[in-house]
Amino acid sequence: MSRYAARRDKLRRSLRKAGVDALLITNFTNVTYLTGFSGDDSYLFLLAKGEVLISDPRYTTQLEQECPGLEASIRPPGVGMVEGVAQIAKRARVGKLGVEASSMTVALRDQVAAELPKTELVSTGDLVENLRLIKDRDEVAEIRRAIWYAERAFNVLRASLRPERTEKEVADELENQIRLYGAKGCSFPSIVAVGARAALPHARPTDQKIGADDFVLVDWGADGGPYKSDLTRVLVTGKISPKLERIYRVVLSAQEQAIAAIRPGLSCHEVDQVARQVIAAAGFGRDFGHGLGHGIGLEIHEAPRLGTNQHLKLEPGMVVTVEPGIYLPGWGGVRIEDDVLVTKGGCQILTTLGKQWEDALVR
Ligand code: ZN
Ligand code: ZN
Repeated sequence: MSRYAARRDKLRRSLRKAGVDALLITNFTNVTYLTGFSGDDSYLFLLAKGEVLISDPRYTTQLEQECPGLEASIRPPGVGMVEGVAQIAKRARVGKLGVEASSMTVALRDQVAAELPKTELVSTGDLVENLRLIKDRDEVAEIRRAIWYAERAFNVLRASLRPERTEKEVADELENQIRLYGAKGCSFPSIVAVGARAALPHARPTDQKIGADDFVLVDWGADGGPYKSDLTRVLVTGKISPKLERIYRVVLSAQEQAIAAIRPGLSCHEVDQVARQVIAAAGFGRDFGHGLGHGIGLEIHEAPRLGTNQHLKLEPGMVVTVEPGIYLPGWGGVRIEDDVLVTKGGCQILTTLGKQWEDALVR
């Protein structure tokens, strides 16, 4: 059985508990997870027996290549997605059809309901996302590959960092290197933020020169196609200020202690608290204004979230970022981010780039 068929079977077993006869998967990432199909604009209709991928003629060849053996309903021109869904529901006599509440628009739901007056639409939450929480060995290998692209590209950037280059030039070069190493692209637009601009957790690269301040924050990741990586490093390019070193060491200590705590059974909230307490004890409690981390996989931000009031418990196979930060408006920010796999005995850091204070110094 293919990995995709196994996932669909697992999902099928959750249908009864969700109180539905069938499930319409409208989240394209979830469709990819369940079929291997990498295109857009296609839904998966999961029935009690079998399943149908509803797509259009643009994808006929791609579907044959990516999902051999999967039943596909290719909508002829003029037949809308809603009609395609309705045909399958009627043919299979679906009484209760589950829909993905976090993906389906209200408009689409209304249209499907109008086409299927005898079918009850039931909102379901995170049925596929809950499967995606736990990565299998192949997925972990693909995340490792996405990390490999990102790290290689970063090493090139680090070696070629010059004071006269701008944030944008450095970001463009980093992204180009990620592609040259073989990645499909970037997980998200890279952040290259010099000095005070590093206080903005989502800074966009500007024409600011690297040499305009003493340090630069880089947050980047590779899209290995389709699995993603996500890292952050701070590089010291100018003079070493005691303040920067102190803050860097606090963030590093918070990150290392949080990682050391990660193990199955601990809640996401508890892991977040480990880092938060280290930062608070150093007097920067108010300057760590975001959650500790997030899951990565097919999407760059997915479950679980490491943060306050996130009570989900860690399980082996989850892959999360651990990325505490301290941000001081007008001065700058330090964040250190690695990707971590939860294992039976604790965890394993998937990223391999050095992050000690000495590693941050660019000479
Ligand atoms: Zn990041
Ligand atoms: Zn992140």
